[in-house]
Amino acid sequence: MEPTQQQREQLRQLPSMTNLLDDAIVKSWLDEHPRSLVVGALDRAIGTARRSVIDSGKSADLAAIIDDARTILQLRAATSMRKVINATGVVLHTGLGRAPLSDAAIRAVTECASGYCNLEFDLDSGARGRRVDHVADLLAELTGAEAATVVNNNAAATLMILNTAAAGRGVIVSRGELVEIGGSYRLPDMMRASGAQLCEVGTTNRTRIADYEKAIDENTAALMRVHTSNYRVVGFTQAVGIEELVELGRKHNLPVIDDLGSGALFDLSSIGMGEEPSVRASIDAGADLVCFSGDKILGGPQAGIIVGRKEWIDRIECNPLMRTYRVGKMTLAALEATLQSYRDASHATATIPSLAMMSASLDSLKTKAETLHQLLVEKLPSEDFQVAKATSAVGGGSYPGRELETYCVTWQPKNITIDETLKQLRTGTPAIVARAQRERILFDVRTIIDADQIPLIDRIAELRTDL
Ligand SMILES: *Cc1c(COP(=O)(O)O)cnc(C)c1O
Repeated sequence: MEPTQQQREQLRQLPSMTNLLDDAIVKSWLDEHPRSLVVGALDRAIGTARRSVIDSGKSADLAAIIDDARTILQLRAATSMRKVINATGVVLHTGLGRAPLSDAAIRAVTECASGYCNLEFDLDSGARGRRVDHVADLLAELTGAEAATVVNNNAAATLMILNTAAAGRGVIVSRGELVEIGGSYRLPDMMRASGAQLCEVGTTNRTRIADYEKAIDENTAALMRVHTSNYRVVGFTQAVGIEELVELGRKHNLPVIDDLGSGALFDLSSIGMGEEPSVRASIDAGADLVCFSGDKILGGPQAGIIVGRKEWIDRIECNPLMRTYRVGKMTLAALEATLQSYRDASHATATIPSLAMMSASLDSLKTKAETLHQLLVEKLPSEDFQVAKATSAVGGGSYPGRELETYCVTWQPKNITIDETLKQLRTGTPAIVARAQRERILFDVRTIIDADQIPLIDRIAELRTDL
């Protein structure tokens, strides 16, 4: 249909691209966004305004078009990686990025990433330095090891160790320790990829030192223990301790590898979290190479840490594959700052968020839940919120079967299903991930960072008013 005389006049009156780009608000957008993105958003908004004139005779003014363009711009400029409020209670949630960093680690990353840094540069001599030197001494100090190095993650650490120590030869591992970690990590597959040959001994539930000894032959390159970090075999069981394995290794002149998965840097039973083998205990027992993740119990950035005998660490660092797993400046900055907190166990517990969350007392969690509950009730008096005791998990393949007592605020939203509410919470801003139990949504306060409490409440209130 041809536009009427009046519509033609309305179309002529619409602001042009030049008018819009002259506007002070639009100009300010150009400071933050690429011009093409701004022009694209304005173009879409003008198009919508024209269609509205033609379809319904409704005209839009400059302010309305700018408003529309702003919404389009915000949508297109939004990043895929976003902040999430973790209300699941799972402290080391792999899907949510495992450990939140300490303030010191965040400062270190910001400082090193916002400009240049001495990543591989010795400021004393002005000569080229080595990137892992920023953390190697600290790791040796904290674990009692002779030497240390760092790679991309613990999977890479395992692969580097196996490739360096055992490519083309056999590595003896107990059948009770052939672990699969979430996200397609399986030890036998990793072993094959490294070029080493897996030599399984014992049974799923019982393996003795004699089983290892019988399997040793001229092809054997190493003995390996793998911490069964994400499951537990209970009942009629027997496993060989690291001391015994080291004794056997010494006798046959074979290195002993200990994959701890999530190594603890101090005895966590002091914060009510026992059972996790410490890296120092493994080194003290005489293990030649010990590896663990940077973002599990340690509470730092994603990294794979290898500590042990200097001759082995040197050989690993000479392996050409090392370059493929090297870590960047942001990782090293965060790792160094995190490790520094460990010089004092109580300082680590107070400043590393995941350790603080794991060791939070039930009393403090109850108080936190009661505060959140009260604020929610004040804001949304007609909604059904309650405080309830529940259990949370450590996660990240750590502390299997270990449940931590916790407090939650639970919610039964009116006139909307639980699944729909959870979806709205996930897809809003800020994104909130929670879980459901018995027709109620649970917000586990253990993993809700203090600064996120008000944004969480505001988002729940906003969701209610949207309905
Ligand atoms: C978690 C884990 C790994 C993998 O570590 P990432 O840092 O996730 O690569 C390997 N081995 C064990 C025993 C683990 O617990």
